[in-house]
This record gives sequence, structure tokens and C-alpha cells, in this order.
Amino acid sequence: MVKAIVGANWGDEGKGKITDMLAQQSDIVVRFQGGANAGHTIVNHYGKFALHTLPSGVFYDHTTSIIGNGVALDIPKLMEEYQTVVSKGVPAPKLLVSDRAQIVMPYHVLFDAYEEERLAGKSFGSTKSGIAPFYSDKYAKIGFQVQELFDEEALREKLERIVATKNVLLENLYHKPLLSVDELFDTLMKYKEMIKPYVCDTSLYLWNALKEGKTVLLEGQLGSLKDPDHGIYPMVTSSSTLAAYGAIGAGVPPYEIKQIVTVVKAYSSAVGAGAFVSEIFGVEADELRRRGGDGGEYGATTGRPRRMGWFDCVASRYGCRLQGTTDVAFTVLDVLGYLDKIPVCVGYEIDGKVTQDFPTTGLLEKAKPVLEVLDGWKCDIRGIKNYDELPENCRKYIEFIEEKIGFPITMVSNGPKREDIIYRESKLK
Ligand code: GDP
Repeated sequence: MVKAIVGANWGDEGKGKITDMLAQQSDIVVRFQGGANAGHTIVNHYGKFALHTLPSGVFYDHTTSIIGNGVALDIPKLMEEYQTVVSKGVPAPKLLVSDRAQIVMPYHVLFDAYEEERLAGKSFGSTKSGIAPFYSDKYAKIGFQVQELFDEEALREKLERIVATKNVLLENLYHKPLLSVDELFDTLMKYKEMIKPYVCDTSLYLWNALKEGKTVLLEGQLGSLKDPDHGIYPMVTSSSTLAAYGAIGAGVPPYEIKQIVTVVKAYSSAVGAGAFVSEIFGVEADELRRRGGDGGEYGATTGRPRRMGWFDCVASRYGCRLQGTTDVAFTVLDVLGYLDKIPVCVGYEIDGKVTQDFPTTGLLEKAKPVLEVLDGWKCDIRGIKNYDELPENCRKYIEFIEEKIGFPITMVSNGPKREDIIYRESKLK
């Protein structure tokens, strides 16, 4: 059977920790979309890791890690991460890379930076990892699949064709140095040597594994609101962040996805530009940012301070619905222990009308938060193992949010470590 772990919001909900935890009972962990542009932070007995490309299951001996066909594969970054993990004492991960995954080319990274520069103040807040140019080329059918590295003649011929068009843009639009086919070809030959030991038909591997009754985890990156179709377009990422896309980006039958764990953080944070209705500012935001996550809310890849906000029931309900949530993992709840009162965004006021439904981008820009204020619990809940032992106001906060979002909260995370988890029966299940 297949389980998916995905985010309901803008990303950084703590998916890495939940994947690391659930990987214990899984055979295979698959990345199915995105690239090295976002990261997961994982704390376990080997240390603290920021993973960008490797699946969060790499820490177990019994799991196989797969880079699926839907991923934007940055080969040197993947290899560097692999080496870092091993150098910190983790047993060499069993890694498989899809022969259909496409390669992030050196010029994708350049084009990302050049385009941000050209757009200046009007940019999308890209992490400049080449993700948008990569997916543009993939769908324009001028991308390179891993398997193409192994046919040198065809590869050179295709490079010549593509470099010609890229150079027109470099010369006339960006006024930057031109690309050389020879140099790119040499780089790709190096990539081939690096990736060769791991390449295979991963969808066939998964098909056979599923027939043998193996458990597969699909690990999503970012969250529902960054999905190019259902998110806050155009302030979105370039590949689908939804569990449904896991079937495509890993190459597994959609009906095999039996459990969808949507990770929802107990407050909001976002990176990059775009409407963020429950956003808070000033000292209030600074304090939550400083206390947030595990050592502050700063981007795992970029180190950028994250934008902070109160829990948003409208966005989370929508985010959970689009994922097809079977279970909510409610994370980073321990962080809120310092607050006397905790505001929660329960509706959006748009043009004088209050709604609970998440609108399209134009209307979202106009939305004002409708807040309800709950009482805090004013203590540290880390270390608590049973739901009943949580302070009453903390349980009330969880139950209030569960009712508002309408999906069962079956896991509550009260610390960054694997074992900081409380399982819970939900009336909604
Ligand atoms: P991801 O991209 O969804 O995996 O999220 P990030 O890794 O960017 O952010 C999650 C951060 O919160 C990491 O630093 C985690 O170690 C930390 N974290 C995860 N769950 C918890 C939790 O329940 N409590 C606290 N305090 N930190 C957590």
C-alpha cells in the first residue's frame, strides 16, 4: 500500500519529521515532485539534517529511497547531500533514481537568477535553484531525462539544438555570456558517471514492490497553497504539491494511495511573496519566529526569515480538502506554550462579506482575517505522550481547529524528535 505525506499550507509544516517517523514502518520512501528548492529539517540520533533532495527515509537501514520521475533532479546537489549524510555516520542509503527523472541543467539555475534580476522588484521570490526554468523546459519538451545521458550522439545533437535557442535569449534578453555545447556536454558526462549506479526503472520497481505487499511512502514538498493549479497562483511552485500527483510523479496506480497524511502546523508561516491573510508583524511576529520550529522559523534552504501568522482555518480546511486528507498530523504545537491568548483565523472578510471558503488569488489579496481568540495553556507540553495528559486549553485548541478544518487530527507533534508524537482518536474518523 501507498501512503502520502503532504502539506496543507505554504510548506515548512514539519513533513520531514513525520516522514522520518513513518518511514520506520515503510519499505520505500519516494520523492515525487519539486527539486532542491525547499528543504526538510530532521532531527534524529545521527544529528540534525537539512535534506533538499534525498527522501526523509534515508536514515533507516531497511528503507530504499527513490527519486521519482516527477522530481527536478539536480545531480551534483543530490550527490553532495548523499556524501554529507554518509559523512555524519548514516549507513550508505539504498538509493534509486528514475531513468525518466529530468535533469536540472546548469543553465536552468542561470536563467532563474537572470529572470529574477530582470524582474527586479516584481519577482516571484524564487530560490534560484532553476526550478521554474526546469519545469518550463520539461513541458516545452526540451528537457533531458536521465536516460538520455546514455546515448552520447543523440545527446550532443539535442544539446546543439537547445543551446541555439537558449543563446538567443542570453544574448538579446539577458545580455549574459553564451552557453557552450562542449562545456555542457562535458558536464553532462560527469553527471552520468555520478548518477549511473542508481538509475533504474523506478515505476516498475515500485509496481513489483507493491505486488509483494511492500509499504511505500510518498514524500511531498511544500504544501497545497503552492500547487500551480489549486494554490495562490502565480506565487506557487512549478510542480504539483498534491498527493494525487504522487501517483504520476512516482509512477504508481492512484488507487494504491490508501492513506494521505496532511501535515498542518499549529500556527502559520510562509516564505516568498503572495497574500498571507493571517500574517502578523512586528514584535508579535518576531517572537513567534524566534520560538518557532526547532531553533526559529528560517528557511531550511535559503536561511530567509519566514513570514509568520496565526493558524488559518480557511486556508487549512481548503489545503486538507485538496490533498484528500485521511489523517491530519498537527505539528509544532509545543511552540505556542508561551502565549496567554491565541488568535485563530476562522474566516475571511472580502468586500464586507465573511466566507470560510478559500478564494482565488485576486479576492485573496482583499481578504481580511476574522479572528477568534482562544486561551493559551502557558506551559511546556514537550515530553507528554498521552493525549489526555495535555493541558485542557491545549486540547481545546486542537479540538477547535479539528472542528473548523473538518478533517481528523490523529497525530499531534509536540517536539522536533521522532518520538515527540501523540496519537489520538478522532471523532471524525
Ligand atoms: P518541512 O519542509 O515540512 O519538513 O518543514 P521544515 O523542516 O522546514 O520545518 C519544520 C521545522 O520544525 C524543523 O526545524 C523541525 O525540526 C521542526 N519541527 C517539526 N515538528 C516539530 C514539533 O512538533 N515541535 C517543534 N518545536 N519543532 C518541530
